[in-house]
Amino acid sequence: MYEQKILLGFIRVHILHHAATDPQGIYGTAMREELKRHGYNISPGTLYPILHEMMNNGLLTSKPIIVNGKQRKIYHATQKGRETLTILKQSIKELSNEVI
Ligand SMILES: [Zn+2]
Repeated sequence: MYEQKILLGFIRVHILHHAATDPQGIYGTAMREELKRHGYNISPGTLYPILHEMMNNGLLTSKPIIVNGKQRKIYHATQKGRETLTILKQSIKELSNEVI
């Protein structure tokens, strides 16, 4: 399924959007539920490497918090992440006007 490859790019945009706009940040399980709500069924084995890749590229930061005795990583968009999102939003708008 070649479309999977393209959809993984959309998923990255979606993650970046929430990491930039949700004041409390995002975490893995909630992000998977959010993506599911939008029709993307993404396994932890796919999501977590994407989150790490986005951190390694300076788009996200993470900080651990403890919830009910368990550690949870909260992700926020960095300045670079916000700038990247701004650029992507332009491309999405442009592409959408053309394709849709
Ligand atoms: Zn969403």
